Amino acid sequence: TGNTSVTLYGELARAAADNGDQVFLRDSGTLTFAELRERADSVAGALAARGVGAGDRIAVATTNRREWVELLFASARLGAIMVSLNVRYRDTELTYMLTQSGAKIVVTERSDGDVDFTDLYARVIPLVPSLGHVVYLDTSIRLEEAIVHDASVASIPASNPVDDPASTAVILYTSGTTGSPKGAVLTHRSLLAAAAGEVERIGFSAQDRMLATMPFNHVGGLTCTLLSALLARGQVVLHPAFSPTAVVNALTNDDITIFAGVPMMWKLILATLGEGRTLSGLRVAIVGGSNAEPTMCQEIRRAGPTVRLVNLYGMTEFSGPCLMSELDDDLETISTTLGTALDGVETRVVDFDGGIVDGEGDGELQVRGAAAAAGYWDQAMATADTFRPGGWVATGDIVARTGTGHFRFRGRLKEMFIQGGYNVYPVEVENVLTSHQAVVAAAGIGISDTLKGEIGHYFVTIVDGSAITADTLIEYCAGRLANYKVPVAITIVDKLPTTPGGKIGKADLRKLAAVQSSQLD
Ligand code: ATP
Ligand code: MG
Repeated sequence: TGNTSVTLYGELARAAADNGDQVFLRDSGTLTFAELRERADSVAGALAARGVGAGDRIAVATTNRREWVELLFASARLGAIMVSLNVRYRDTELTYMLTQSGAKIVVTERSDGDVDFTDLYARVIPLVPSLGHVVYLDTSIRLEEAIVHDASVASIPASNPVDDPASTAVILYTSGTTGSPKGAVLTHRSLLAAAAGEVERIGFSAQDRMLATMPFNHVGGLTCTLLSALLARGQVVLHPAFSPTAVVNALTNDDITIFAGVPMMWKLILATLGEGRTLSGLRVAIVGGSNAEPTMCQEIRRAGPTVRLVNLYGMTEFSGPCLMSELDDDLETISTTLGTALDGVETRVVDFDGGIVDGEGDGELQVRGAAAAAGYWDQAMATADTFRPGGWVATGDIVARTGTGHFRFRGRLKEMFIQGGYNVYPVEVENVLTSHQAVVAAAGIGISDTLKGEIGHYFVTIVDGSAITADTLIEYCAGRLANYKVPVAITIVDKLPTTPGGKIGKADLRKLAAVQSSQLD
């Protein structure tokens, strides 16, 4: 591992040469490394016949299915750029991303089982001038034929693979947790470097089988799952979309050795698991993508006492993981820190005046290394803001380094608010709220207040049948937090807004809070 001098296609070709007969992908059937390479070659031929060449953008909006993987390596072979989109994006998001990336072709599916997307594309296409074709996957014909609409040209061999590891492989839009998503430009090298860091840290091997439920339009699915498994020559089990029951079945029948999920997924898994069933077959359990509350970490440990639990901190702009727990960290460390820097990741903590923090003080985490993205697609201002001189990527996250090189997470700078003159990071309050046995999930924001400047408004979901009230929860916080951190308002809701990747959408929370306060007036 750690080879950053090949392209994605080059790495697949090496796997096909060295481990050709080994199964790489499993869905209802299987696909070996050699078979995947053949599929990628054939699909590349069809894309080329449809006019796709080096540097062109191919948008792909599908669930986690084998065609997605074939398209990734086909696109890589052509030196084209895959723009990976989520099937669940709204019209406006989809129109923006297709237009902004200048996609020539979009490959999608008609439905993901629940929702029909056919109308969606009919609405969106006229709004996207660059878009030449929409390809709907159809299981009754080969992907190649769906792409070219003509069986006779569907088997043109592609020209030689484009071989430039520094070129762009994928555009992934950030989750849009704090605002509108930005397209991170990920190169072959940055993606493989990020995957290599994870492989090394968790000892991902050819014996490992990892479940792919994190969507491939997110680094959690693309880098932390698919590309890590490729580098390790391990196996990926495809789940088209996240279903708690299907995941629990897979995790309890000793089939899966590595699972990664965002906290929201883990909570649903824990609730579905119930008493008596354990995660015994799992070797590594990864939780990441947003704050992993200590209470949830303890519950995962209880469900799988022998499982190596790992907190993973990463971001799209760094092609995936930056920090992870060490495999033998104790539960206290795992549940209160983001872990340490991965191999190949340099870190620094920068205070509010731009000075470097040497000790354990708070500051913004900045990261540097081969995994850094090349910037945001066609957004010079935002790029300059995040991608700083010297190769440093500004994460926008406030952390404090401990004596052992672990990082404590304070929260996102954008989420911090000032209540009565004091800084409040909602994460600290959310950790207290979720430590209450009646609370499942909690998320808060600062809203403006004439008296105190800003005040904390928190939204919580509670366990089924609980009669807990907002006032009791405020009292609970008052007993555990300094005065200025105690929530001023708590609203109990049925469901928290989530991004397509399963993170709590703080931007949507803001809209919810606005509705609430207008109802109060
Ligand atoms: P946007 O940038 O569009 O607002 P986003 O930041 O959520 O969305 P991602 O790139 O998917 O988009 O997420 C990276 C961010 O997620 C990090 O900057 C950090 O705030 C948060 N994050 C990731 N992993 C963890 C973790 N283990 N614990 C706490 N926060 C995390
Ligand atoms: Mg971000």
